[in-house]
Amino acid sequence: MQQSMMQRPLLISALIEFAEANHGDTEIVSRRVEGDIHRYTYRDANRRAKQLANALKHLGVKVGDRVGTLAWNGYRHFEIYYGVSGMGAITHTINPRLFPEQIAYIINHAEDGYLFFDLTFLPLVEALAPKLPTIKAFIAMTDRGHMPDAKLSNLLCYEDLISAEAADFEWPPLDENTPSGLCYTSGTTGNPKGVLYTHRSTIYHTYAAMSPEAFCLSSRDVVLPVVPMFHVNAWGTPYICAAAGAKLVFPGPALDGASLYALFEGEGVTMSAGVPTVWMGLLSYVKSSNLKFSTFKETVIGGSACPPAMIKSFEHEFGVNVVHAWGMTEMSPLGTMCRLKLKHQTMSAEQQDAVKARQGRAIFGVEMKIVDDEGRTLPNDGKAAGDLMVRGPWVVDRYFKDEKSALVDGWFATGDVANIDADGYMQITDRSKDVIKSGGEWISSIDLENIAVSHPSVFEAAVIGVPHPKWDERPLVLAVLKPNTTLTRDELIKFYDGKIAKWMVPDDVVFLDKLPHTATGKLLKTQLREDYKNFKLPA
Ligand code: ADP
Repeated sequence: MQQSMMQRPLLISALIEFAEANHGDTEIVSRRVEGDIHRYTYRDANRRAKQLANALKHLGVKVGDRVGTLAWNGYRHFEIYYGVSGMGAITHTINPRLFPEQIAYIINHAEDGYLFFDLTFLPLVEALAPKLPTIKAFIAMTDRGHMPDAKLSNLLCYEDLISAEAADFEWPPLDENTPSGLCYTSGTTGNPKGVLYTHRSTIYHTYAAMSPEAFCLSSRDVVLPVVPMFHVNAWGTPYICAAAGAKLVFPGPALDGASLYALFEGEGVTMSAGVPTVWMGLLSYVKSSNLKFSTFKETVIGGSACPPAMIKSFEHEFGVNVVHAWGMTEMSPLGTMCRLKLKHQTMSAEQQDAVKARQGRAIFGVEMKIVDDEGRTLPNDGKAAGDLMVRGPWVVDRYFKDEKSALVDGWFATGDVANIDADGYMQITDRSKDVIKSGGEWISSIDLENIAVSHPSVFEAAVIGVPHPKWDERPLVLAVLKPNTTLTRDELIKFYDGKIAKWMVPDDVVFLDKLPHTATGKLLKTQLREDYKNFKLPA
C-alpha cells in the first residue's frame, strides 16, 4: 500500500524551533559559574544555538563528530545541547565527578574533537590536556572578561566564538537515526561504557516523558532540574521543557540547600527532579530554618531508591508531591514513574504512600518483564522477584563502538532485581550485585536501608552483605547519624523488630561520619564491601 502519511524526521532541532515559535518569550534562568543570575528566553537560546552551530561548522565539525562538555546546568550548556546535536554532531556530556583517569579514558574512547568546559573545571582540564590527543581546542564557557590565565595552548572563549557568527542557520534535515548524544555509564565495574542516543530515540523519549503519567509538564510549569546535565541529559529535562514550553531554571554549581531554596522561591519553581542525596540537603536546610515552599508542588526522585521517609516528609510536611522514578543511562533514562491511579485516590494516606514507595509503572514505549536465572518469565504478582528486562525505542541496543549487541533475545538486562504487581507497578528490590544472599535466600539491601533511614536519628544508611561462615552473607548496617543525635547499635537493631522478617534483621551496625558515593550520587557499595570484607560479625 502507498505511504499515506508524511515522513518527517524526528529531530532535536525541532524542539528548540518549536519552543521559539510557541514560547519565544518564556524564560531560561541560570545561576552562573561567574556568580550572578543570567536570564533570557527560548528565542535567545535558539539564536545563540544557531550561532554556535555556525561556529562549529567553521571549526570543521561534521555530522557524527563528538563534542565533549564538562559543565554544570546552565544556559550555555543548553545551547551546546541544541547547537551541537542540531547541526548533526554528537553532544558528549562528561561527568566531572568521575576519577580523572576515567574522564581521560572516556574522552579518548569517544574521540572528542572539542571540549567545552565551565571555569570550575579548568584545573581538571589543564591536568588532563596532555592525555587528550584528539582534542583540537578547549572552549571555556565564559566571556572575554572572565577568561582565565590557563596553561592550555589551544584555548578558545565561548562568547568570542559565537559572537563572531551569524544567527541565520538552517538546521539540517538529518536522518532521524543520526546519533545526537553520548553518555557513559559510571563504570562501577570495569571501564565506563558509552550509550549513543539518536535524534529519534531522544524525541520518542521526550514525548513519553512529558505526558501526564510521567513528568506531566506544561507551559504553566517552572522546572528546576537539580539532576545534572552531565548525568543522562538531566533525565531529558532540557528537551522535555522545550517541548512543553516550561520555564527552565538552572542552578549552576550551587547545589546546597540555601542556594537551591533561594532559586525555588525567587523563580516560582513548580517542579524539580533529582537524586535522593540532594533532597536530603535541601530538606534538612528547609527544616532547620523553619521555611516552607510557596510554589513548589512536585518533584521527581530517582537514580537510587527514594526512602519512604523522604516521600512522607516532602508530602506531609511540605505539601510537595513526590513521583518516584526509575531508569538508567541505557534507557535515556526513563523507564518507570510512580503516579497513583484513580482507584488509589480514595485510599488512606498510608496505603497511597506504600504504592508511591514503588518505582512505578512503565511509561508508554517501555516494555518490562522479570525473569528467573534460566530466563523464564516470572509472574507479575508483586511477590516474585527476578532480573528486570526492558525493551523500547529509547533503550540501548549496543554500547558505543561495541561489535556485539547488548541484548538477550531482544531484551536489555538492567542488572536490577525487581518485582512487578498486577497493576504494573515495579519495585526494585536490589541491584543484582547488591543483593544480600543469606542461607540461599535473598535479602533486599534497599528494604533494610529504608527502615534504617526512617529512624529519626539516622541521616543516611547503607546495608551490605558481609561474609558469614554459616549463612554465606549477613547484613551489616553502615549508618550516619543526624547532627546532635545519639543512637546505639542495639537501639537501631531493635528498631527493625516487627518491620521485617526476623531472619532479615541486620546482624550489626557501624556508625560512620559519612558514606562514599559514586559520581552519580549512589552509595558506593563496591567500596564498602571491600572495606568491610573482613568484618567480624558478633557470634
Ligand atoms: P550508573 O552509571 O551508576 O549505572 P545510572 O544512572 O545509569 O548510573 O544508574 C542506573 C541504575 O540506578 C539502575 O539500574 C538502578 O540500579 C539504579 N536506580 C535508578 N533509579 C532508581 C530507583 N528509583 N530506585 C532504585 N534504584 C534506582
